[in-house]
Amino acid sequence: MGLLSQGSPLSWEETKRHADHVRRHGILQFLHIYHAVKDRHKDVLKWGDEVEYMLVSFDHENKKVQLVLSGEEVLETLQEKGERTNPNHPTLWRPEYGSYMIEGTPGQPYGGTMSEFNTVEANMRKRRKEATSLLEENQALCTITSFPRLGCPGFTIPEYTPNPVEGGASKSLFFPDEAINKHPRFSTLTRNIRHRRGEKVVINVPIFKDKNTPSPFIETFPEDDEAAKASKPDHIYMDAMGFGMGNCCLQVTFQACSISEARYLYDQLATICPIVMALSAASPFYRGYVSDIDCRWGVISASVDDRTREERGLEPLKNNNFRISKSRYDSIDSYLSKCGEKYNDIDLTIDKEIYEQLLQEGIDHLLAQHVAHLFIRDPLTLFEEKIHLDDANESDHFENIQSTNWQTMRFKPPPPNSDIGWRVEFRPMEVQLTDFENSAYVVFVVLLTRVILSYKLDFLIPLSKVDENMKVAQKRDAVLRDMFYFRKDICKGGNAVVDGCGKAQHSTEPAVEEYTLMSIDTIINGKEGVFPGLIPILNSYLENMEVDVDTRCSILNYLKLIKKRASGELMTVARWMREFIANHPDYKQDSVITDEMNYSLLLKCNQIANELCECPELLGSAFRKVKYSGSKTESSN
Ligand code: GLU
Ligand code: MG
Repeated sequence: MGLLSQGSPLSWEETKRHADHVRRHGILQFLHIYHAVKDRHKDVLKWGDEVEYMLVSFDHENKKVQLVLSGEEVLETLQEKGERTNPNHPTLWRPEYGSYMIEGTPGQPYGGTMSEFNTVEANMRKRRKEATSLLEENQALCTITSFPRLGCPGFTIPEYTPNPVEGGASKSLFFPDEAINKHPRFSTLTRNIRHRRGEKVVINVPIFKDKNTPSPFIETFPEDDEAAKASKPDHIYMDAMGFGMGNCCLQVTFQACSISEARYLYDQLATICPIVMALSAASPFYRGYVSDIDCRWGVISASVDDRTREERGLEPLKNNNFRISKSRYDSIDSYLSKCGEKYNDIDLTIDKEIYEQLLQEGIDHLLAQHVAHLFIRDPLTLFEEKIHLDDANESDHFENIQSTNWQTMRFKPPPPNSDIGWRVEFRPMEVQLTDFENSAYVVFVVLLTRVILSYKLDFLIPLSKVDENMKVAQKRDAVLRDMFYFRKDICKGGNAVVDGCGKAQHSTEPAVEEYTLMSIDTIINGKEGVFPGLIPILNSYLENMEVDVDTRCSILNYLKLIKKRASGELMTVARWMREFIANHPDYKQDSVITDEMNYSLLLKCNQIANELCECPELLGSAFRKVKYSGSKTESSN
């Protein structure tokens, strides 16, 4: 999750003193990059996925599963045996927030050919195998979005008791600092977010009211004033960054061929974020309770919300400059392409000086306001050795602010002096249990970008409607129960929309409603007379492409999974986990997930992930089994 500098981290008070310096030089660094590469064209389409993993340990005798705090050592060995030994190693490993987490990506980005879609799953399998081979016998590498008993007593191995004293990083009642990655970036982020905010972070997730759940459901925290005040009835209360950033996700980054193509993709994919997030829903449980939400998004958002009371509008502005309506981890606030301009209907707080400076440097309004909006934030970490930089050749100050704006989409300028192009990152997806599912979601999103670019599709709707979709997408069973705003006619474009807006309608007929409420089934699978459906569009694209039989077969299987998850024929991971717990013999219909229930659930997840058992409700049964063998995937039926 961002830039890792080595050195001595500064306290919040010291970091704050350098905030203007970081912003000023961050902007200069951005300008250097922009001027150097703004006209770069013809970069080829490249892309890559990121999968975040948790290390778990099964105690079969006591029927308990715990998170293993060995991420740093495992990572060190993976890098040593991998990229440091062989620059062409097929996998790359990076740290993540939790000391029980690691992140894996393919060693090289994928290119633009169709056959690469057939290597994604094999590479994910390789990653799983590689990291698993370093674990002890009772340990496993899991791709679960949120660990159901995160923050419950003894959830880590070794076990630590949280120590909510001043001086600690999170001061959490539940999440010990030892579960935070040992690289100083992570504890410094945690501490400085809390100090900047002026109090502990507050996360309240609605509890799922089952037959025997106490109503109202109230937990008391007499020993902690902040907790007593912040916790809400009928909610699961959490108080640390780890409850959010300690969750795992699945991300995809694309390199576009030019800055304008990147801006176009950024906008188009932003509208898809809530839809795919709901389809990937995989996190129904928090701190040992069944919640009423299916996705992690709001939890992470609250877990890194560093806004002061003034910025949140609870007190008049005195010491701060802005009212800020969202957390640093949230949905995007403005479209970047010309076509998006008229749909930018969210109030955008910007740093006016920075905006003016960018305009003077020849940057257009939309990009200038985007950057000036990111730069209303303070840097959260700063290393003493990294204050004075060479703005023409380094970008750490820019990246400092950029990489702690964790939004649904990220627009990424090339690093200085590199041959990397303009990129966009798609960030809302929850990680799935199996490599098959994760490949399916990744391939679906990448194919969608191909179709958007080839057919010049237009999904844009007012950004406030995308925000409404984001809220709805996190609700329990949103895939089947809720409706989402979506553009009715996505093919009106005709002309290129990458460099200009081809549509006369855009300016002449704004009164006609261009969007309507649709179910995810309609959006994904289409409905006669209403909407063509994304999968049918992808299928017709595929029919016109030259694709080898094996790759086509894999892609069709992936699309089938997405199609069936959207129609309800298959369950989301969140729904499946809910049913598993509901049917567990120990479950008392009181929304409580005990150690033993957690153990059986994670054991089952691990068996599914390693293909030791089938799970037709989740994966279907008609899918071919892809077995990893060397560097080749084979189909067995
Ligand atoms: N784990 C975070 C999530 O679930 C993302 C961290 C990152 O940006 O890598 O969204
Ligand atoms: Mg990550």
